[in-house]
Formats: sequence, C-alpha cells, structure tokens
Amino acid sequence: MKEQFRALIIDRDDEKKQSAQVAAVSSDQLPDGDVTVEVAASTLNYKDALAITGASPVVRSFPMVPGIDLAGTVVESSNADFAPGDRVVLNGWGVGEKHWGGLAEYARLDGNWLIPLESAFTFEQAMGIGTAGYTAMLCVMALERHGVAPDSGEVLVTGAAGGVGSIAVALLSGLGYRVAAVTGRHEEADYLTGLGAARVLPRTDFTEPGRPLAKEQWAGAVDVVGGQVLANVCAGVKYRGTVAACGLAGGMDFPATVAPFILRGVTLAGVDSVMCPVDERREAWRRLARDLDPAVLEPVTTTATLDDCARLADEMIAGRVRGRIVVPLG
Ligand code: NDP
Repeated sequence: MKEQFRALIIDRDDEKKQSAQVAAVSSDQLPDGDVTVEVAASTLNYKDALAITGASPVVRSFPMVPGIDLAGTVVESSNADFAPGDRVVLNGWGVGEKHWGGLAEYARLDGNWLIPLESAFTFEQAMGIGTAGYTAMLCVMALERHGVAPDSGEVLVTGAAGGVGSIAVALLSGLGYRVAAVTGRHEEADYLTGLGAARVLPRTDFTEPGRPLAKEQWAGAVDVVGGQVLANVCAGVKYRGTVAACGLAGGMDFPATVAPFILRGVTLAGVDSVMCPVDERREAWRRLARDLDPAVLEPVTTTATLDDCARLADEMIAGRVRGRIVVPLG
C-alpha cells in the first residue's frame, strides 16, 4: 500500500468549529483493524452529509474520515476470512462515525464488518446501491419473513423517489409484487413507473391525521418516512399484513393507535442496517445480486471526486441533490 494517500478529513478547531478538507494521510495514522482495504469507491449518503457539514452530531471523535459505505480490495489481512486480493463491501457498523470510513484511498477495519462483494457487481455499482439499496433489500426480506408474497396483494412504498424507496420499488416489482409508490414529487411519476410501480400516489393522501383503521388496502409496505405517513400506512394494512419501517424522512414521531396491531394482527417490522448481523447482510447482498438489475440505478447515479464531497454535502443538506452519488477512489 502507499505510504501517503488522500482522505477527506473532518476536524474541529479549539472553538469546536468543524471543517472538512482533503488531506494527505500516512498509513500509520489509520486506526486499528485486522484488514486494510484499498478503497475503489465510496458514496455520499445523507448521513455522510450530516457528518461532513456537522448539521447533526454524527461524528463521535475527531479527526474523522467520513464514509459509511465502501467497496474495494483487501491489501493486508490478519483475519482468517480475508486475504489480499479479495473484493469486499462494507456498510455501517459506525464506520465514518466512530471509526475512519470510506472517503479515503485506504481504510483499516475490523474484518468482521466486511462481506465479500458479489461478482455480479463492480465496485461502483456496489456503491450505487450502498446503504440505501442494502436497506431496501433488508425491508423486502422483512416482508417476506412475515409472509407477504406477490399474491398477497398490493404493496406500498413511501418516499418512493428517494434512495431506499426507489430501490425498494425496483426490487419488489422485479419479484412480482404489484407496487403502489408514494411520492411528494409528481414529476418523478414516470421514473417510478419505469422502476416498475403499477401506480403512483401523492404523498398528500397520507399526510393528514386519519382514522385508527382505514380501508384494508396494502398487503405490506416499506416505509422510509415515519410520522403521520407511517401511522396512516399502518391503518390501511390488510389483516395480518406487515410494514417494514426503516426511516424518518418525515419525522421521528409515530402518531398512531394500536388498533391495526391488535384488531388486524398487523406487524410493524423495524429495519436497521447499521448493526444488522453479518449473516443477514450477506443474504441481503446475495439477494441484491440476484434480484436487482444494476442498470436501473444508472440514470440516477452521478460520480464525484473526493474534492467535490464537502460542496456536495452542503447541497445534499439543502435538498438539492437527486439520486445516488458514487465517489470512485481507485
Ligand atoms: P432520501 O433523502 O434519498 O429519500 C427520502 C425520501 O423521503 C424523499 O425522496 C422523499 O420522497 C421522502 N420525504 C422526504 N421528506 C419528506 C417529508 N417531510 N414527508 C414525507 N416524505 C418525505 O433518503 P434515503 O432513501 O437514503 O433514506 C430514507 C430514510 O431512511 C431516511 O430517514 C434515512 O435516515 C433512513 N435510513 C435508515 C436506514 C436504517 O438502517 N434504518 C438506512 C438508510 C436510510 P418523495 O420525493 O418520493 O416524496
């Protein structure tokens, strides 16, 4: 590996003012870990933008290299499961928050956090999928685990034009489900039907306080929004249906009643990608390789350099970024 390499470094001054810039780092500055990866690509997630801008206290220690996702090649390993030359992917585990992350040419990590990258994907495709796509797959697996099948009826995806939502639409429709996609951006309707949505519903159908139990419509749902939207989704789920809840794009609260759970046997299945056990991660990536055509992401994926990341993080926080941003580092 190179003695000196480039990394995006977030640091704080004496007045606790945060800044992020690309700097040269030497290999002995890397944190402890039993596997060193030459990072081929990373990606800029909303959480990375929060870390880089300091808009939310994502970073737990300074200096920090952000980047919650990375894909690359093992260059050094004392972990029995990985050898130099292995292609790997990493999502979450607090990397980019508590442990130096993927927005650097090299990362040193706990090998238990890594999983082999499926041969179906290039490094850049894996980062086009990133935490968003892997979380979408975890949601689909949660629906399946609770018995929601293509013949159970229509499934709903909220926040459908976002990262998690759009991949959930593509996955579910590819698996044969009839998908209703909820979006606040009517101009994305063609994009969503292109991904396989059978119909597109306006977000406003779900934003007003509703009855504890509404008409039974959805066999299952993937919700990235939370708040009133999640409450209304639960109220409209069919007997013994399941909602996979993974996000809070519309709020942290949950102004619901227990009626759907105790009268219709509805399951609210929580989905967390960060600390998800490794077997489930491996299964999610195997399923992504089988069930997701990476070509569906091409129209919404742009590439950026390490030097672009600080500016793009500001744009992302301001809501001016559409789709996925991949950061090639090789
Ligand atoms: P994006 O920003 O790409 O998408 C979120 C979507 O939610 C938007 O595109 C929009 O969809 C919708 N939305 C945004 N604001 C509101 C609002 N105020 N009310 C209703 N809908 C809204 O984010 P991601 O897809 O990457 O992530 C979605 C959520 O999932 C986030 O809250 C994120 O923190 C969470 N997440 C959780 C993970 C976990 O491990 N549990 C992992 C990854 C993400 P549209 O334009 O179609 O209306």
